[in-house]
Formats: sequence, C-alpha cells, structure tokens
Amino acid sequence: MFFDFSSVQAIAYRILMNGVRNNKCSHAYLINTNGYNKGFDFAKAFAKVLLCSNGSDECNCSVCASVDNDVCPDLKVINCDGLWIKKEQMDDLQAEFSMKSVSSNRKVYIINGAHNLNASASNSILKFLEEPEEGIVAILVTDNIYNVLGTIVSRCQVINLNNSDTYSDSMIVNVANKLYDESGKIDSFINDSDSLDKIDHIISFIKYLDSNGLDTMLYINDLWNKYISKDDYIFAFDIMLMYYNDVISYKLNNRVILTEYNDDITRFSSYDLSYIMKRINLIIELKNRIYSNVNSALLMDKLIIGMEGLK
Ligand SMILES: [Zn+2]
Repeated sequence: MFFDFSSVQAIAYRILMNGVRNNKCSHAYLINTNGYNKGFDFAKAFAKVLLCSNGSDECNCSVCASVDNDVCPDLKVINCDGLWIKKEQMDDLQAEFSMKSVSSNRKVYIINGAHNLNASASNSILKFLEEPEEGIVAILVTDNIYNVLGTIVSRCQVINLNNSDTYSDSMIVNVANKLYDESGKIDSFINDSDSLDKIDHIISFIKYLDSNGLDTMLYINDLWNKYISKDDYIFAFDIMLMYYNDVISYKLNNRVILTEYNDDITRFSSYDLSYIMKRINLIIELKNRIYSNVNSALLMDKLIIGMEGLK
C-alpha cells in the first residue's frame, strides 16, 4: 500500500498524493532513491494509486490486486537486461502501450534503474517523454541521478526520497527490515528473544571460518548445530550476505546494518574489495542451491572449501 510510506517518506508521499487528489499528476516522475532500499516498492505502490479504480492509497480493488500479482496489463516494469536497459525494451514498451491506447485506462510504466539506460534507449525514452501521450505516466527510479541524462531529468518531476530515517537505532529492527518484506514477519523477528542469538551464532561462524579455514570442517557439527530447516539455512546465508555487504558498505561509506559487530566488520574491511565480492558471489551461488534441496552437509563443505579456495 502506498499509504505504508506516508510516514517513512512523508514529503514524497504528500507531494505525490496531492497531485493525485487535485488531479494534477505529472506525466513523468523521476524517483531519486538516495539509497533508500525500497525505492522500487515505493514506485510500484504509487503506480497502483495511479491505476486504482478508486484512486486510493489503501485499496484492494481488482486493479490493485492485479498490480500486486504482477498481472496488470496497464502497468509495465522495465528492468535491466544484463548491464543496461536497451533500446529494444523501450521499443517494445512503446509498441505495447500505443496498441492499447484505445482503452480509456491510464497506463503506467516504471523504469527501474534509470541510470542504466544506454545511449540509444535514453534517446528513445526521451522522445516518449517529449511528446507525452494522454493517460500514460512514466515513473523512473534511480539511485544514481547524476548518471541519468540531464535532458531526461529536466522532463520529469523529480521526487527525492530520504534515506536518513530508514535506519533505526536498533540493529535488530534494521536487520528485520532488510530480511523481510511483510510486517508480520518483521514484527515476529523483532519480538523473538532468540533473534539476536541467531545472528550472533552466524557471525561467530563467519569469524571462525575466516581464521581457521578448512579446520572449520572438523567442528562444523558444533558450530552449525542449530541449523536444520531450509528456512534456517536461508536465514544463515542471508546474515552472511548482510555481513559481507556491511564490510563493503563500511569501506565505501562507513554505514553498516550489523552495528553491534562494527569491530569485526572494520577488521574484515582490510581485505580488498574484489576478494570480498568473490566471497559474496560464492555465498549467493550456494544460497541458490538451498532452494533446490541440496544436501546440507555438502553445502557447508562447499562453502568452507570454496572460501579457502578464494584465498
Ligand atoms: Zn484499488
């Protein structure tokens, strides 16, 4: 629901809803996320308001449901195809939208990662923005507005999101927000008295593995005894990813989520960036295998041996 953003992104929310309520929507918005990690969700929730038959920010009509289920014919989302958003993707979009222009419905397209438009795609979108068609709204999302073509920026209403309020003082709240999308899951993680222990357990494992290498295999049963179910494993791998992403963030801008492990993260930040990236890629690759029911002992062996192989 777009209403969910009414306090975290109060200014942006108010500007956009005022436009809707006063029937003064722009034909193109550029959402500058400033690193806020739910920028795309924000854009999609706003698109839902634009498409909703009631123009509501808290609604469950059939159109809203179709947006939630990614089957709304009047909403098109464009993501990177590889490294870039390509001209063919823009051409497809324009063809699709002009074909349906007989219907009276509003149509919305979201370009997620507008800084990734390559030169020809930028030119193509520019033409689209210069001659706005009635009822078509563009929402561009970027976390890097300086890499969006100036002529594109100048044709959009720029909406700045704030990132300063998205981090709480409580580590557990930040971890929960990062791990889960649903408020039910977020709350139960925050209120579970075991959550901090579970995080601590994984961080201890990461540190043990880092200092002891292959010897970790000998003690894996003791180190890893709490982890049994598929969900446990996914959680564990997510915390490992969070930890290594924190190491990178620490190197780049000093901001981390796992604040209670600042000292460890600082120590790991002496590794070079490409080495940390390799570790992250290994963890992502192995995490994907959890979904395909890999044998868990084998998975941990691969992690330990893989980490050692990167050294
Ligand atoms: Zn609705």
